[in-house]
Amino acid sequence: YRRGTTKRRFRGRAPEGARTPRRSHACPTVIAMKGAVRSLVIVLGDQLDLHSSAFDDFDPERDLVWMAEVREESQHVWSSRIRIALFLSAMRHHARALQGLGRPVDYVRLDDAGNTGSLAGELRRALARWQPRRVVLTAPGDWRVLKALRGAAAAAGHAIELRDDRHFFCTVREFAAFSQGRRTLRMEVFYRHMRRHHGVLMNGDEPVGDRWNFDAENQRPFPPGGPAFVPDRARVPPDDITREVLALVEQAFPEHPGSLRDFDWPVTREQALHALERFIAERLPEFGLWQDAMWPGEPWLWHAQLAAAMNLKLIGPREVVARAEQAWRAGAAPLASVEGFIRQVLGWREYVRGIYWTQMPALATANALEADQPLPAFYWSGETELACLADALRQTLRLGYAHHIQRLMVTGLFSLLLGVRPAQIHEWYLAVYVDAVEWVELPNTLGMSQFADGGLMGSKPYAATGKYIQRMSPHCAACRYDPAQRSGERACPFTTLYWDFLMRHEALLAGNQRMALQVKNLARLDDAQREAVRERAAAIR
Ligand code: FAD
Ligand code: SF4
Repeated sequence: YRRGTTKRRFRGRAPEGARTPRRSHACPTVIAMKGAVRSLVIVLGDQLDLHSSAFDDFDPERDLVWMAEVREESQHVWSSRIRIALFLSAMRHHARALQGLGRPVDYVRLDDAGNTGSLAGELRRALARWQPRRVVLTAPGDWRVLKALRGAAAAAGHAIELRDDRHFFCTVREFAAFSQGRRTLRMEVFYRHMRRHHGVLMNGDEPVGDRWNFDAENQRPFPPGGPAFVPDRARVPPDDITREVLALVEQAFPEHPGSLRDFDWPVTREQALHALERFIAERLPEFGLWQDAMWPGEPWLWHAQLAAAMNLKLIGPREVVARAEQAWRAGAAPLASVEGFIRQVLGWREYVRGIYWTQMPALATANALEADQPLPAFYWSGETELACLADALRQTLRLGYAHHIQRLMVTGLFSLLLGVRPAQIHEWYLAVYVDAVEWVELPNTLGMSQFADGGLMGSKPYAATGKYIQRMSPHCAACRYDPAQRSGERACPFTTLYWDFLMRHEALLAGNQRMALQVKNLARLDDAQREAVRERAAAIR
């Protein structure tokens, strides 16, 4: 018996195949159930909420939590070591918290002898070990995981009892009902519906401040000297559990990207709540102003850095949105900033989840623009002469983090303009970010960033020249390319590829009202100018 388990309740011998206690202080692995197991409650690595629906009728006398660390989850895409370490450390802390509440946990460690390396394989073993009467699971985030677990359970003669994920404001059923009969599924319409429905930033039936959107006040570039100061990041020094995980990840995934030297992400609910409070007090007031700005060597700026904690379910969007609104009502943050932030969490985050679950599995293979180029190898090394791209890629590979505009308007934009296969760029995004989970990453990548959904999410592709990056960052001043040139040796590859993109998709884009201006500008290019762009684009490819 481990510290934290309840001896009184769990006597007797562990059944054959149950793991024995490990020498590590860090990880609860032991359980020995007295009688038959009623429910095996599956807790996945991104379901770290003590109050999730899977626990609604949990009885520690008869039910058992099952958690498993498996290689497949880190290797089906070439995951950042920071992402792997975050998941494993948060899972081990969560298992300890569960035990603290007297809930018995069967915990499979990555390096346990006999670990099959996949969730399906481990579930099969757990079912054989415990032979539960039922298997309970809060709806998982990923289609792939749900399919694998259902398959493994079915093979063992079980049907998984799937319960709603209450973490979100909006259930998938509500989203499906909302989208029924609509020709398009624009975020803005959904966001206003959510604001009304949940009474967020509302004054009766009207939005506070009499406007739904404050973008005009937000989204500024930094002044020429850059930000005068940037608030310190909320750092969490590794404890014993995290240190053990870091050593394991170093040893088990030596070739994967990401440096573990400065690992400092929140891995418990308490730490995540502390990070939330720091964000509300120190960053939220200026979040809106600088949310689209980039500055070399400044990865964090005024961003919340809370996506990972939310996606692991350490904290929930309700408390995050409520704290932001309270800050505005208390006069601690301006409305423009608070609305800009709430739009991301109550709007975009809920919206992409609805899109994912109503559009899968077709979304995963969508390729409306028939993009067929391979992902450039430098996405995995950061070795490129394009200054903006080098900065975003190196930061991403080192820290497992880049903010939204770096993802959308640098790494994503380049891939869109180059015409990279959506499946390849999707795998890259899913691998490299600490907050990457498929339900949020896939719609953002395929829909918002690559227009592979043909316009389901966005009314037009996010296509721009290097001048956008010049406006929002100082990168171009230090680059060998010139964002104003579209052809020739010094032409900015973003600018060349933008014109090439318009030419390649001219027929499709001509029918899009929102692209009218861009298509009109394209019509001004004569044959020689078009040929020069094509030649340069071919050279870049
Ligand atoms: P902030 O910029 O401070 O934003 C606050 C919060 O709003 C975030 O924590 C996040 O929860 C939410 N949010 C903001 N934008 C979005 C959005 N577009 N979709 C959903 N939620 C949003 N976000 C992920 O959580 N996981 C991903 O794997 C992911 N992949 C992305 C891939 C691409 C190509 C793009 C363009 C965006 C992706 N995003 C993803 C959305 C967004 O970039 C990140 O949520 C954000 O950068 C995380 O940093 P932050 O916590 O500092 O967020
Ligand atoms: Fe990026 Fe082009 Fe500017 Fe260079 S010139 S930093 S490639 S946008």
